[in-house]
Amino acid sequence: MSDIRVRFAPSPTGAPHIGNIRTALFDYLWARHTGGKFILRIEDTDQAREVENGLELILESLRFLGLDWDEGPDVGGAYGPYRQSERLAIYKEHAERLVAQGAAYYCYCSAERLERMRREQQARGERTQYDYHCRNLSPQERAAHERAGDPKVIRLAVPREGKTTLRDFIHGDLTIANKDVDDQVLLKSDGFPTYHLAVVVDDHLMRISHVMRGDDWVPSFPKHVLLYQAFGWEIPPHGHLPNVLGPDKKKLSKRHGATSVLQFRDEGYLPEALLNLLARLGWSYDDKTEIFSRARLIECFTLDKIERAPATFDRDKLDWLNGYYIRELTDDALAERLFPFFERARRPLDRATLRAFAPLIKERLKKLSDAVAMADFLFGDEVEYDARLLIGKGMDAASARAALRAAQSVLEKHTTFDDEAEIEAELRAASDRLGMKYAQFFGTLRVAVTGKTVSPPLMGSLRVVGRAKTLRRVARAEASLV
Ligand code: GLU
Repeated sequence: MSDIRVRFAPSPTGAPHIGNIRTALFDYLWARHTGGKFILRIEDTDQAREVENGLELILESLRFLGLDWDEGPDVGGAYGPYRQSERLAIYKEHAERLVAQGAAYYCYCSAERLERMRREQQARGERTQYDYHCRNLSPQERAAHERAGDPKVIRLAVPREGKTTLRDFIHGDLTIANKDVDDQVLLKSDGFPTYHLAVVVDDHLMRISHVMRGDDWVPSFPKHVLLYQAFGWEIPPHGHLPNVLGPDKKKLSKRHGATSVLQFRDEGYLPEALLNLLARLGWSYDDKTEIFSRARLIECFTLDKIERAPATFDRDKLDWLNGYYIRELTDDALAERLFPFFERARRPLDRATLRAFAPLIKERLKKLSDAVAMADFLFGDEVEYDARLLIGKGMDAASARAALRAAQSVLEKHTTFDDEAEIEAELRAASDRLGMKYAQFFGTLRVAVTGKTVSPPLMGSLRVVGRAKTLRRVARAEASLV
């Protein structure tokens, strides 16, 4: 049994985006690579930022990608509860322990006083930072506040001298002078912890062996290191993962289009493709391998290959990977994956039709959702198009009609359209007899049956449309040319 324990600790503030989920993936891969545990912890102590179905969106995103967790709010585990809002007593007790040992103190400053302090600091061109007012209270002043029942928070008493270093396994040593570290609030007056207290207490109590989180948390590290030191706990290895940027080299955000995993799912990206792409955002195995299945990722993933430089989210790469994984699917599996897209577009297709259609479009599908438009000629009895499309280059109405009539007499003879090769050979022979180019003959037939000049392979399309409907469409096209 490995004692590797890693956690993904999202806040339920909306649908997880690419950057968040990349952190979850790295945690998951490290746990699975080592035979350790992957833990899901919900950091829901900032209730103002919470969205109503935030937890559901997180669970759904992880499930879509198949990042299954061993411990978490829904499955439990030995170190729960896994929702921070259910651990308030633990944080309070820990914060008070620090007060008792002199590493933290009660602060009674009102919001107005703090605001005034900040404005004055700004006016003097100073960095805004707590001014230690309550750190210096006399026992009598403190007692007076207590007697008056003044609301209070607990602040960390950051040493004013010396410096604090975090050994980051991605960035190396990160060091800051303590005088530049604020006396961070640990416990708010409503009894809720701040992120800094909760994350350190939980990572310790949940025996997290490696902490991985986004680069934007780097500024918080001194507070965390100082907290570990104040508690007398060992600091687990920390690694801050490189940012994910958009193509313009700015941090990936909504401006760049879809950024949430569920949006990508709804657009028709396969979890296999997203997983492959996400894994390469800040991790590289060598400089040539692009394709990584989940199993291969689990096998290859090590922390020393995490990169320091920001990673760029490349949508073209995602499209390419998606196409690759679509073509890897069996026809049955592709049909199954397409099914919900047709349902959602309110153009349901039965499974047998989808199964017959899937191989026709497999080669050209970029996203699963594209299939709905490609299948539009399967719906309804007729297809709508401009009759002029039936008359191809170098043709006139008479030759288009002749092509359709010849096609019709070939098709009529077949009770099913299953033998595509045979039917195609007969249609070619018919085209030869008329002295037409195949592009003309088949082009006219294609428009008659699919309503379009470009469609999935024609013989397969005829088969899926079916004999009766095909013959009706050909007859109608012929009539429209009179
Ligand atoms: N709750 C933080 C977030 O949503 C977690 C940061 C961490 O992993 O420590 O980004």
